[in-house]
Amino acid sequence: MTDLADGNRVRSRDRELGMHRHITRRDFLNGIAMGVGGTLASPWLGGLLAAQTPTPAAQDRPDYYPPTRTGMRGSHPGAFDVAHDLRDGTFWDKAGKPVETGEEYDLVVVGGGMSGLAAAYFYRKHAGASARILILDNHDDFGGHAKRNEFHLGGRMLLTNGGTVSIESPFPYSKEARGLLTELGVDPPALQKKYSGNGAFGGLGFGYFFDKDTFGAERLVTNAPGGFYGRQGSSGKWAEFLARTPLSAQAQQDIVRIEEAKTDYMEGVPQEQKKARLSKMSYKDFLLNVVKAHPDVIPFYQTHTHGLYGIGIDAVPALDCWAIYFPGFQGMGLDRVPSKGLTFTALGEVTPQEEFHFHFPDGNASIARMLVRSLVPASAPGKTAEDIVAAKMDYSQLDRTDSSVRIRLNSTAVLARHVGDPASAKKTEVVYAREQKAYSVRANGVVLACWNMVIPFLCPDLPAEQKEALHYGVKVPLVYTVVGLRNWAAFQKLGVRGVSCPGMYHTSMNLDQGPTMGEYKGAQSPDDPVLVHMLRTPCQPGLSAREQQRAGHYDLLATGFETFERNIRDQFARVLGSGGFDPARDIEAITVNRWPHGYAYEYNPLWDPEWPEGKRPCDIARRRFGRITIANSDAAAAAYTDQAIDQGYRAVQELLSS
Ligand SMILES: Cc1cc2nc3c(=O)[nH]c(=O)nc-3n(C[C@H](O)[C@H](O)[C@H](O)COP(=O)(O)OP(=O)(O)OC[C@H]3O[C@@H](n4cnc5c(N)ncnc54)[C@H](O)[C@@H]3O)c2cc1C
Repeated sequence: MTDLADGNRVRSRDRELGMHRHITRRDFLNGIAMGVGGTLASPWLGGLLAAQTPTPAAQDRPDYYPPTRTGMRGSHPGAFDVAHDLRDGTFWDKAGKPVETGEEYDLVVVGGGMSGLAAAYFYRKHAGASARILILDNHDDFGGHAKRNEFHLGGRMLLTNGGTVSIESPFPYSKEARGLLTELGVDPPALQKKYSGNGAFGGLGFGYFFDKDTFGAERLVTNAPGGFYGRQGSSGKWAEFLARTPLSAQAQQDIVRIEEAKTDYMEGVPQEQKKARLSKMSYKDFLLNVVKAHPDVIPFYQTHTHGLYGIGIDAVPALDCWAIYFPGFQGMGLDRVPSKGLTFTALGEVTPQEEFHFHFPDGNASIARMLVRSLVPASAPGKTAEDIVAAKMDYSQLDRTDSSVRIRLNSTAVLARHVGDPASAKKTEVVYAREQKAYSVRANGVVLACWNMVIPFLCPDLPAEQKEALHYGVKVPLVYTVVGLRNWAAFQKLGVRGVSCPGMYHTSMNLDQGPTMGEYKGAQSPDDPVLVHMLRTPCQPGLSAREQQRAGHYDLLATGFETFERNIRDQFARVLGSGGFDPARDIEAITVNRWPHGYAYEYNPLWDPEWPEGKRPCDIARRRFGRITIANSDAAAAAYTDQAIDQGYRAVQELLSS
């Protein structure tokens, strides 16, 4: 085939998929930011735009409302250029001398995620309402991973989480984290009792989509039994389900053997030794070498760990997979008690739990919004966990001179240092970059609640051992794509509310399950517009966990929106086409929540050494440095909201007692 014929074929397929359709995503070109007013938002551009700082700042403009922005979100274009210049050593040449703002604060918090907002909250609680606090964040919205996606489709507001899904944790919330929720008016068990997920999809089940490239034939198979972590499937039998798939007869037999396992594959081995062995082999190796399953079963299971770990079964310990209820271990007599050799997440699964979880329609963005409402009362109306859901926040209130707490967005901190000797200095200086200029402020103390791997670049004075420890964890890259549809008739017709697509660009697609709450009401009838959540993790099987994370990070930053859009449309057409879905007609909006620096890195027995008590990289990394302290969920090496809050609390206590 000639290049010309190839090109024509691609163009014709693009038309079928609706790539030409104008949907609510075109506020940028292919991942390259178009700033407000149409200027390119890449911050430095060799200093050409340096003198043109617009006033007022973008966040002060009346139409500034990032939750409704679509296209490439999460780490959106323009959010990370400064940090990358800092990393690459090119920032200071471009930036020139910072402008002295003359601003003085009691506290500067770097990072407006859950940890930074909580730190500001705890500090103000201690120091009183007049405490002057500045929160800096490089994104155009606050909340860090806890971001709100707000769509307006067919006259209806539809909400979902762009990142952090829900209040949940492997371990009970601490007194401080629980206390913070209580003070905000959030009572997870009571909310859970009152508002559970969207019941409209109750009659629908789950399916698997087998793609031709991975499985040799293209097929949607509905009514999946059993299911996997976090999923409930139908109660049908595995053999009957598998017979409808394109999997080989041997793979089918082996999957039945795994799912309905009765064998003790390590008969006679003491319990602790079994667990020790399982913690040092991947689930993939367990299936191939211990269960002795045919390699054809691997593509079926490979991505089952993506949502929780961001990597496949080649890099997750088999013991973790046992703890999170993966199949194959049922005959091995393993007691569900806390054991060595589990990751933080999996250890929680075998530790007795209380009911303490809740999913707001926009995920934990509601908690971030409540924290901001508490810190800057003029920013949002209302005072309850219910009324925050539909509230429209006024971003122009976030950074006002007459407010004791100020939240400055689109502002990347580039330097945090003491004014004088760190051992005795009473003042610190923080420099940040915003809209092509660097600015300097002073503060009595600084909490760095930003991603920990950035800190060595911000604080060149830190001891070498601490810098090395800060660099250790490599955050987990992942993408939560949200697609707004005209309706969910195709899902209804096919009898599915979620489809696992192990071989495809996005490995799952699920109707958004957010609850009806307060004034907010999600989709009710199949004719209503709806949101679909898709998951993509750009991991690279075959490498160590940290190397997979690094590779995924570069992959995400190198992938433009157009590639995402084409893959999304193609996937919808193939998976739901038999239900009458037409991507050119039915897709109304696309938001790609891209998180190259997603979950905090959790230590993994397959890839990390076992450190002595108090000597893990995060223990060393979070040491106080004079009047600069370190928070963020990275400081706990645990990707959970309560951990982020706890680290914010600790960092503030360290500052107050220094
Ligand atoms: C997709 C996804 C889903 C998740 N789901 C859940 C869940 O369901 N439940 C749960 O408990 N946890 C979940 N998590 C984990 C989540 O990371 C934590 O719960 C928590 O929100 C982390 O808060 P944080 O403040 O520690 O970090 P972040 O949310 O990452 O906030 C740190 C902020 O600092 C900013 N920053 C970095 N460098 C600078 C700089 N130099 N200057 C200024 N700002 C800077 C960052 O851009 C970011 O906005 C999820 C995470 C992701 C990515």
